[in-house]
Amino acid sequence: MLLMNPGPVTLTERVRNSLLQTDLCHRESEFFDLQDETRARLVKLYDLDPAQWSAVLMTGSGTAAVESMIAALVPEDGKLLIVENGVYGERITQIATQYRIAHSIVKHEWMQAPDLSRIAAALDADTSITHVAVIHHETTTGRLNDLKALAEVCRARNVEMLVDGVSSFGAEEIDFAEGTIAAVAATANKCLHGVPGAAFVIVRRDALASAASRTYYLGLARLASLQDQRNTPFTPSVHAYYALVEALRELDDEGGWKTRHGRYAALAEQARAGLAARGIDSVLPPQECSVVLRAYRLPKGIAYEQLHDALKARGFVIYAGQGGLSKELFRISTMGAIHAPDIERLLASFDELMR
Ligand SMILES: *Cc1c(COP(=O)(O)O)cnc(C)c1O
Repeated sequence: MLLMNPGPVTLTERVRNSLLQTDLCHRESEFFDLQDETRARLVKLYDLDPAQWSAVLMTGSGTAAVESMIAALVPEDGKLLIVENGVYGERITQIATQYRIAHSIVKHEWMQAPDLSRIAAALDADTSITHVAVIHHETTTGRLNDLKALAEVCRARNVEMLVDGVSSFGAEEIDFAEGTIAAVAATANKCLHGVPGAAFVIVRRDALASAASRTYYLGLARLASLQDQRNTPFTPSVHAYYALVEALRELDDEGGWKTRHGRYAALAEQARAGLAARGIDSVLPPQECSVVLRAYRLPKGIAYEQLHDALKARGFVIYAGQGGLSKELFRISTMGAIHAPDIERLLASFDELMR
């Protein structure tokens, strides 16, 4: 079965086999070697300086990393502006609400790009705002939100960005050097090709210095300081770490995130062009989309469940639209061990079932 849902991904044999390594106690030096290598590789992936940036690991799915980042990095006397244009932006609002973090929202329709003039106006109208939270790749629609343009708006107003990069880290450009990004939250089992159970926040060390402590298990500053001392507060998902470090070695061997970006871009275009030739249009213009996942309009007269079940019978798991979009669209991700012949077979399956 090939997984074309947005994580967990189809594993490579190399990563799958890494799960079969020796049993490991998380209080032994072998585990801390694993933890050190994983953290070092995560920082190196985007050529970051480990003196300035820390990769903080935690056990959980991508949402754990987003929650840890939001709960820690908006200071007690800070205020968060949340850019919403899909399910995951709305999730950050739920997190901020639950932790009683002062926040306001710039809400958009799910199909819309962030409106920079509205965001700038919201920041100008409320100078108590210290941070902007944004989703890099809004997996709801496949839209890649323009971090660079948003960073300019934020930098001009001395506001820092907290980025949900869960479905972009490892395959899309992230400009850490620009200076406005304080942290990016992500996970092992999307563009990095690991298994679920390990998540992480890439955070500027000076932002950790003023971090709040609102959560016990996901406390980012505590996790960071213990990991710096080759320690861990709790039992981590050891096997997920085995897979993550192997996936990072494999990514490095393949040429890093830029190579992965190129590979995804080719697969996404192959799928887009092939579906367009069969009368199935992508929902957003390709230049506004990530290379990771695209949303497509359901063919006329075919319900999602029909399409899903027919493709599953042929070995492909696709993904539904969320909320109100479930009747209109389906999504195809090209993360994981997916190659051009797989997309060819997927397109041939569409031919069979549209006949
Ligand atoms: C997948 C995803 C998440 C996290 O989902 P989990 O199910 O917790 O892994 C968060 N944000 C975005 C943009 C995602 O695509």
